[in-house]
Amino acid sequence: MNAGRAQEFSESSVFKTSDLQLRLLLRFRPALEQRYGQLHNQQAARSFRYRAAVIFLLYIILSTGIASLLPAGQVNAWLSIYGWVAVIIVGAGALAHLRELDRWFSWYVGIGSALAIALSLLAAAFIQGDHSDILLHVAIMYAVIIVYGFSGLQFYPVTLAGWGGGILGVLASQRLDGVVDWQLLLRTYSGPSLLGMCLAYASDYRSRINFLQACALEQAQCETERKNQLLQELNCVDGLTGLSNRRHLDDVLREEWNRAMRQQQPLALLMIDIDYFKRYNDTLGHPAGDACLRQVADQIGRRAQRSGDLAARYGGEEFVLLYPSTNPSQAVRLARELLTSIDQTAIPHPDSPISAYVSLSIGIAVITPPYGVPLEIILDQADHALYEAKLNGRNRSVLFGMGEMLHPPHPPVT
Ligand code: GH3
Ligand code: MG
Ligand code: MG
Repeated sequence: MNAGRAQEFSESSVFKTSDLQLRLLLRFRPALEQRYGQLHNQQAARSFRYRAAVIFLLYIILSTGIASLLPAGQVNAWLSIYGWVAVIIVGAGALAHLRELDRWFSWYVGIGSALAIALSLLAAAFIQGDHSDILLHVAIMYAVIIVYGFSGLQFYPVTLAGWGGGILGVLASQRLDGVVDWQLLLRTYSGPSLLGMCLAYASDYRSRINFLQACALEQAQCETERKNQLLQELNCVDGLTGLSNRRHLDDVLREEWNRAMRQQQPLALLMIDIDYFKRYNDTLGHPAGDACLRQVADQIGRRAQRSGDLAARYGGEEFVLLYPSTNPSQAVRLARELLTSIDQTAIPHPDSPISAYVSLSIGIAVITPPYGVPLEIILDQADHALYEAKLNGRNRSVLFGMGEMLHPPHPPVT
């Protein structure tokens, strides 16, 4: 997981113990509930695209059965009510294909379900015959079972739609002077509704548990990836100075050397050594020496600005700056800037024979690597130039091959 994804994995998906306690009420914390709702609506809408076709097929089978058994004179009247259920199924199925409406899934399927139940009740209240009322009550049972078990709605919306549709159907039947057979309704509507609620609760509960498990898994994966990343970073970092360590320098140097060889671009390497650092330690103590190393490293780190630049601790009081695509004059300018910034930092060095302050010597090597030449050559050249800088009085930089002093030394301490 990259940093972006880790950030995206925010508060909303991190579940807490309280979420487990709340699950019996089928409710999470608002942030988690929102995320669950979004996911649920997306998945439910996707599966409703296919379910709508199955529901429609069931509707056709049921309707042709009813139509064939109804007295001929009542078929048209029945169809004028029950036909709207087909429109609702097809309409909801069509809306489920519009992805931008996914977040409204509970609304359009909920309202459609309520209307389908209400229409089924209405049809039963208005069409009367020998056995047709029983037949039409079977249609109510179908509607209830499909709404609770097959619509994909969560427990609360489906309960609201189921009972809301029933109440709406009864009220409309009574208002329009239909006949409400309470006995039959109890068996074909109320009983299945209670059963449907149990099924919907179990299904919602299971899906919430699955969601929590997925969250916990994602959380654990995030944590592991974060730790791996931290471990990887620690592997590359020098503990004292925070610059890259020798191992990381070796890796980057190899990569940059090969890239410079492929692209025939100059690669610049600055080998930096603190002057008379042993004396610094001996005079001020090792902890002060560590603090000095950190200060110097800080200045060196600031000189690695571009994305490919690298500042590393080479070992002890020696550092390396690596600059891809950098020519000799640019490398010399960068070394001079570093010497100036160390001058300005003015870390007192009581026992330096050349300055009152800590100073650096820098060996510079710039190579456009010819094919087949090993990378050790750039380290050798920088080391050689550093040796020359030391030999020539320290507190200066020397470009390999030039042998000239490029930075004036401090006046000797009197
Ligand atoms: P020169 O000008 O020739 O470089 O002299 P120098 O004294 O700096 O050179 P030398 O290599 O003899 O001394 C390096 C010293 O750096 C010796 C060691 O005690 C010190 N040193 C190396 N690593 C650390 C560290 O992590 N912390 C501290 N405090 N000192 C360190
Ligand atoms: Mg040294
Ligand atoms: Mg030294």
